[in-house]
Amino acid sequence: MRAKRLTESVEAAELLSAGQLVAIPTETVYGLAANGLDDHAVARIFEAKKRPFFDPLILHIGSTEQAKSLCQDWPDEAEKLSRAFWPGPLTLVLPKSDRVPNIVSSDLPTVGIRMPQHALTLELLNLLEFPLAAPSANPFGYVSPTTAEHVLDQLGESIEAVLDGGPCQVGIESTIVKWDETGLHLLRLGAITQEQIEAVVGPITQSVSVSQKVQAPGQLEQHYSPHCGITLFEPGASAPNPNDQQAVVYFQKLPEGMPQHGYYLSQYGELSEAAASVFSVLRNLDKWGYAHAYIEWAPKHGLGLAINDRLKRAAAKR
Ligand code: AMP
Ligand code: MG
Repeated sequence: MRAKRLTESVEAAELLSAGQLVAIPTETVYGLAANGLDDHAVARIFEAKKRPFFDPLILHIGSTEQAKSLCQDWPDEAEKLSRAFWPGPLTLVLPKSDRVPNIVSSDLPTVGIRMPQHALTLELLNLLEFPLAAPSANPFGYVSPTTAEHVLDQLGESIEAVLDGGPCQVGIESTIVKWDETGLHLLRLGAITQEQIEAVVGPITQSVSVSQKVQAPGQLEQHYSPHCGITLFEPGASAPNPNDQQAVVYFQKLPEGMPQHGYYLSQYGELSEAAASVFSVLRNLDKWGYAHAYIEWAPKHGLGLAINDRLKRAAAKR
């Protein structure tokens, strides 16, 4: 194993300042970070993840001032949303300033920016003089990592270090909202719900596309996928009997107890608990050697919509 496990933000800051790759903890998932203003360092992220260059990266910042320096201007909506949700799981897409390298934005004229809610990473960001470009720290297309172990298991040979900040509290990626002259557009469902955003800025349009050829893989039909096959079933419908080839994953722990090869996303049927565990459960299905899994949809409201978005893409045919 090549990657070091770090616990101090200063150690991570030294490596990042030298142009190296360090996985960082956030409240959503672990990110694979590099100096977001250094083309060469950013190119190494794409290489380590085998990520196509058409998939833009999110810049992580430690202050709103820093965010402003990365975009052309700072509309009222950005001010309101950043005040309401930063630090937190909301990414704002805005017209980019010249400081942002084209490799970060995949040649788009816009850039995605967010301030993560994690003490160690905020400390790190405030030690640095540059933003961190950081997509999820997993091979492209696979399940996102929510612990330092997940990162080491898959990228341990291709990165310098992981800053271990414990398991991610939220567990699914940020909500992405794009601003343009016509208004605000929801590009990716995530940890902050559309209702929460609309409570701050009024109605926004949904542009969460499901397609094979889009500008951004959070929008690809198939993504976040374990190697085992997945079939989704409606809440309360009966699932096939599980066996050592075929697991069943319920949304909530069954009151009568779980059968062998039966799993659940949440002990008490809570959406936030299910979000925090969904990627670990998907990973474990592979680790434990199942060829197939039947997974129950989450309740279809609030955070359940973002969980179902990930399940749907994980289940999409390759
Ligand atoms: P990840 O950090 O792996 O969750 O991926 C970042 C995602 O953010 C991309 O796949 C896009 O969906 C989105 N994104 C980042 N920058 C932009 C942008 N400028 N325009 C639209 N979407 C973006
Ligand atoms: Mg990702």
